[in-house]
Amino acid sequence: MYPQKSLDELEQQIKIDFENLNIPPKSWIISDNQAEKNEVDVAIIGAGMSALALALALLSQGIRCVLFEKEKDGQEGPWVKPALMQTLRSPKNIVGPALQFPSLTFQAWFKAQFGQEAWEQLDKIPRLQWHTYLQWFKKVTQPHILYEHELIELEVNSAHTQLTFSHQGEVIQYQASHTVLAMGIDSLSQPNIPSFMQGINTRFWEHSYAGSDYQRFKGLDLAVIGYSASAMDSTATALELGARQVEVLCRCKDFPRVNRGKVAANPGYLASYSEWSDAQKWQFHRYLKHAKTPAPYGSTLRVSKHQNAFFNFDQHIAHVEEHQNKLHIYTQDHCFVVDYLILATGYTLDWSKYTWLKQLESSIAKWKDMYTAPVHEQDNYMADQPYLSASFELQSKHSKLNLSQIYCFNYSASLSQGAQVGMIGGLNYGAQTLATAIAKKMYMASFDRQIDAVKRSEDYELTGREWNEAAPYSTRSKQ
Ligand SMILES: Cc1cc2nc3c(=O)[nH]c(=O)nc-3n(C[C@H](O)[C@H](O)[C@H](O)COP(=O)(O)OP(=O)(O)OC[C@H]3O[C@@H](n4cnc5c(N)ncnc54)[C@H](O)[C@@H]3O)c2cc1C
Repeated sequence: MYPQKSLDELEQQIKIDFENLNIPPKSWIISDNQAEKNEVDVAIIGAGMSALALALALLSQGIRCVLFEKEKDGQEGPWVKPALMQTLRSPKNIVGPALQFPSLTFQAWFKAQFGQEAWEQLDKIPRLQWHTYLQWFKKVTQPHILYEHELIELEVNSAHTQLTFSHQGEVIQYQASHTVLAMGIDSLSQPNIPSFMQGINTRFWEHSYAGSDYQRFKGLDLAVIGYSASAMDSTATALELGARQVEVLCRCKDFPRVNRGKVAANPGYLASYSEWSDAQKWQFHRYLKHAKTPAPYGSTLRVSKHQNAFFNFDQHIAHVEEHQNKLHIYTQDHCFVVDYLILATGYTLDWSKYTWLKQLESSIAKWKDMYTAPVHEQDNYMADQPYLSASFELQSKHSKLNLSQIYCFNYSASLSQGAQVGMIGGLNYGAQTLATAIAKKMYMASFDRQIDAVKRSEDYELTGREWNEAAPYSTRSKQ
């Protein structure tokens, strides 16, 4: 029998767990930041899964942070929109944001409501149920979140970062000692739009990340470019909502079969990755990139069960044309004629995504600045990734600007940090690594005052009334 029979009981258990682990610990932070002046110790941009995990890891270290989220409460992350998959790819017993707290896991949350038997029967976590779980996680861990605060400017000064947010038509400024960029899979990226789409009217196409209403594809002929998870989910959703047929156009000759990244991500890999040499990181990531990730089993079946889904392999798009209200997609073999095209072509790094990022770009160390790959291992995409410290800090190419107060806690950290961030799997590890790094830096930044506080402490364990001083030994021994 599972010990908690309801969410209420589980929530009581969480309170007990926090009490038993002394969370939050006694306040130790010495900081000059004044909340009333909008000065914060740690600002996290985004309030998705990574930010929630980090906020909890920081709380466990006694550090309070503020999360700034551009969306309204309940709309964080990709789960409601734009994601189209029915279930997560990850296994149901994933720990993710729960860190080391058993009662905060998806598994505990699920079993407390639906029981052990339902758990045994569950295959994969339904996407919207994962979203509901994350909302509950937020409720019980209570991070301080400011909603509808979209970061629009970021300026680095010597000791802090000036953050400007757009909030309901107003501009609000904050100052943070530590700033964490946790804005999701596309934090530093944009949907990848291949060059053959240049000049094609957007009424004929969209990227799979658009999250638009697929009802409008009813009765239409579609093409989907790509073979990733999102290609399958876009295709399946369109067919389920009545698309006449979908041509799936894959550049590969065959689907990849093994998810090598998933196989790699064991605890030893997560723990040791920061010790790998640059060459080891580079070679392994390049290998993973070329090995490719298969679409999930369930998503692929979700497509192939439709008679009007067509998988076309080894199709290299030569060019695309608009013709008589249709789109003509030319490959080396065919001309596919469709009403609409969905690009499941992934993301590409875009350093000019935000004005502030573009301004910082020339100072940020990238892999190409720090590592020279052998000629046969060159890769421009990887070379353009940020070269981070072992604690997710952006590094500066020159000493004029100190970027170490800004942390890249998103998918763009993968080459530097491995699977500690970006996916659910390694998040528990990454959040604790980053929280510990911030705790160290906050202590060291106030080192003298911390030591002084120890010396001046009046936290008496003995008051002086607990004993009587003996009369001199010589006087007593004569009696
Ligand atoms: C469709 C899809 C399916 C996925 N499925 C899986 C899966 O099955 N298993 C797995 O391990 N991983 C999966 N992932 C990868 C990863 O787990 C998710 O992307 C996850 O949401 C990452 O969490 P996050 O907190 O880093 O980002 P998000 O959950 O995206 O949260 C980032 C938040 O930042 C906010 N934000 C963005 N810009 C700003 C700004 N300028 N100012 C303020 N706020 C901002 C956003 O509104 C968002 O709420 C999936 C990703 C996608 C896109």
